[in-house]
Amino acid sequence: NTRVLLKRRPVGAPVPEDFEIATAPLPVPEDGQVLVRHRFVSLDPYMRGRMSDAKSYSAPVAIGGVMEAAAVGEVVESRDPRFQPGDSVMNSMGWQQWAAVPAGKLIKVDPTEAPLSANLGVLGMPGLTAWVGLEDIGQPKAGETVVISAASGAVGQVAGQIAKLRGARVVGIAGGVQKCAFIMEALGFDAAVDHRADLNAQLDAACPDGIDVYWENVGGAVQEAVFPRFRDFGRMVMCGMISQYNIAPGADAAGAPAGPNLGPVVRKRLRIQGFIVFDSGWQRYGQFRAEMLGWMNAGKLHWREDVVDGIEKMPQAFIGLLKGENFGKLVVKVG
Ligand code: NDP
Repeated sequence: NTRVLLKRRPVGAPVPEDFEIATAPLPVPEDGQVLVRHRFVSLDPYMRGRMSDAKSYSAPVAIGGVMEAAAVGEVVESRDPRFQPGDSVMNSMGWQQWAAVPAGKLIKVDPTEAPLSANLGVLGMPGLTAWVGLEDIGQPKAGETVVISAASGAVGQVAGQIAKLRGARVVGIAGGVQKCAFIMEALGFDAAVDHRADLNAQLDAACPDGIDVYWENVGGAVQEAVFPRFRDFGRMVMCGMISQYNIAPGADAAGAPAGPNLGPVVRKRLRIQGFIVFDSGWQRYGQFRAEMLGWMNAGKLHWREDVVDGIEKMPQAFIGLLKGENFGKLVVKVG
């Protein structure tokens, strides 16, 4: 069982030496547990937080511990009547090839509904995040302008398409020409803004009447450019701020972009709300999955994955995620 362990806590941007590739004997399931062989393991930005022992909404991964992650795979042995060998399952099982997992923590997935790896992206935690954040906070209405940052990524690509399906005009912000072409051509967004070029001029052109909903995935310079363009009663869905994740706590953020002036929040009666997908997301997983599968089967929802092959490539792939090297939902094929 090849696994990736956290060797030490990264300071600033993670480096390969922060991780250790190790092998362990196959885990043996106890009563009530299920032995799962992973096919795909998910890499997500939140994992940067789990590498740090700063106070957060979840406990950090221990030094020497297996990095946390969602995975999908097949049941090989079951010591719980709810699961049989051959069942496809998903849940949080770590950067490793095999896991013995308490049965109550697993969700059975139907491999005929969608490719297995889709359960880590469009039908998994990132898709659920997009759906919940729009339901609860963004609430896009027909004709409104919705701006999505990291728009070609796991959360952004779903959030933008759902906003379009709800009738909004959707502007995506992404890094580089290829990602911008993808969100226009494959996802049908109304406009694309490349944050590596002149952000302000492009936003002026793409949002002449201002912005009703901003889906925040990145923070920093992008947030600073978007913020003054809010219309009255705008909503800002604070999903994440990936541009800040490698800034060491306590370090002066020299070189990091200045934060925006949040004064207009009051004047424009804006609603800025943060959320974490697991607050109430998983309780609504059935409703989410049914709506998503409906759109997917009708050809109305597309998704792009960036598949890396080999568990030993996980540290480098994760390091790249924090620099925008992934193009689509990043998953690693491990078996
Ligand atoms: P993505 O698949 O979008 O990958 C990350 C993308 O972020 C990169 O491809 C890159 O896109 C962009 N990026 C990376 N570094 C920077 C930077 N320094 N400045 C600007 N953009 C950058 O990731 P996810 O869709 O999985 O996650 C998106 C956001 O959602 C993250 O902030 C994450 O933490 C958050 N999240 C929050 C959840 C919640 O419950 N609140 C749940 C899941 C995710 P590009 O090349 O286009 O710039």
